[in-house]
Parts: sequence; C-alpha cells; structure tokens
Amino acid sequence: MTKETLVRIDGVHKYFGEHHVLRGIDMTVRQGEVSVLIGPSGSGKSTLLRCINMLETISAGRIHVREELIGYRETRGRLHDLTIKEIAAQRREIGMVFQRFNLFPHRTALQNIIEAPTQVKRQSKVKARSRAMELLDRVGLGNHANHYPAQLSGGQQQRVAIARALAMEPELMLFDEPTSALDPELVGEVLSVMKDLAKSGMTMIVVTHEIGFAREVGDTLTFMDGGVVVESGNPRDIIANPQQARTQEFLSKVL
Ligand code: ADP
Ligand code: MG
Repeated sequence: MTKETLVRIDGVHKYFGEHHVLRGIDMTVRQGEVSVLIGPSGSGKSTLLRCINMLETISAGRIHVREELIGYRETRGRLHDLTIKEIAAQRREIGMVFQRFNLFPHRTALQNIIEAPTQVKRQSKVKARSRAMELLDRVGLGNHANHYPAQLSGGQQQRVAIARALAMEPELMLFDEPTSALDPELVGEVLSVMKDLAKSGMTMIVVTHEIGFAREVGDTLTFMDGGVVVESGNPRDIIANPQQARTQEFLSKVL
C-alpha cells in the first residue's frame, strides 16, 4: 500500500533581496510520515518551513499540501495571491512549533491553548476547554492547566506549545528545532511527546539536531546545505552510511 502524498515541494526557490536562500528544493512527505530535516546553520531549513506555513512567500516553484496549492491560486497557468482569509484557512491546517515557545505570558497554559480554537475556529469555550484538557493530559501536563508560562520549565512550556498547535487539529505539524533552546535534561520530555505524536499518525516535518530522534522516529532524513537538498533517504541508512561528503562532514560534527 502506498501512502498518499501530503506535502509536495517542487522546485522551490527563495530570495531575500539578492540573497538566494533556497535554490530549487524538491521534497515530498507522505501522510503519517515523520520527515526529519538536518543541515548546518544558514542552510535554509527554517526558511523552508516558513514557506510551507506561508510565513514567507516563495520566489519560484510550488508547494502543495493535500493537492492544494499553498499561498496562491492558479487560474489558466497564472498565479494569483490569496486573500488574507484564504491564507488563514490554509494556515489553520498546519501547526508550527518554534525553538522559542512563544506562549502568551499573561495567559495560563489552558488559556494559551483555547485562544485559537475560540477566536479563529469560533469553538465554544466549553468545548475548547475540554479539548484543551485532553491535550494537556496527552502532553503530560493535565495538572498544570492553570500555570502561567513563567511557572513552567522550558520543557513544559514547549509541551504546552505543542498542545496549543494540536488544538487547531492540523493535518501537518512543523517543528523548527523544538529542543534547541532547552536545557539538556529537558530535551527528552519534549522528544517523547513528539514521538507519541508520530505514533498517533501525525504527519510531521522536524528540523532538529537530535540525530537519535531522527534515527528512531524518522521515516525520512533530508540533509540540506546551501539551500539545496544534498541527500535524502532512510535515516538509518544515511546516518550509518552517508553517500555525500558534505553529509559525512556534518554528521561527524553532530554525532
Ligand atoms: P537555517 O534555519 O538552516 O539555519 P535559515 O532558513 O534561518 O537557515 O536562513 C537561511 C539564510 O537566509 C541565512 O543566510 C539567513 O541569514 C537568511 N535569512 C533568513 N531569514 C531572512 C530574512 N527574513 N531576511 C533576510 N535574510 C534571511
Ligand atoms: Mg533555523
């Protein structure tokens, strides 16, 4: 059985002014797959995630999520910008977790989670709250619902951020170095939540330097450098036996 393609990235380029940051990225992610993205700082990993989530516009190429063109409408071969409403509708399907947890500091964990479902999806407070409690349980924070971010550790804050993204019931989750800002002893609890999420069948693109996570949880590992995909394939194979010199060199530094 071949799984359905959920994300298709074709020939994506991104310029920031003269700076050519993504130089023709092709990548597919299938439904339920965990796609791990690694590469040196500045190679374009965050930019690629931000393009998928429309936090950046692409300069050329196409991104489709479930057959739907992201960021544009195409009529007779010509691209037209989406309205803000259309962009919001597409973005709703994609959850994103950043290196910095970005929780609202003056709201409790629960309030952070129900914000988007009640404001954006117009869910009732009662429904949003009961769903938020389920999600807090799922990330192991059922008894921290009324804590403010400052009363939570970095690992707990990041788990709330994951629950908050899940509250919108996205079909795709993007993680941009979700454990890089954490003290080492807090990394495991966040990776464990991500692992459970992967097991539940969520489609995930994960930028991380946690090679152990890539090996254990990843279905695909993609190594980017200088705005191109240098090598992509089975994580176990690539980690054990990288084919490209640049991949070898990078892995020797992070392993
Ligand atoms: P990575 O996440 O792999 O470290 P990034 O995608 O953050 O890489 O950055 C890739 C390159 O794009 C870097 O050279 C960075 O300086 C540049 N860049 C990223 N965002 C912007 C921006 N908003 N404006 C200008 N340059 C940017
Ligand atoms: Mg980055």
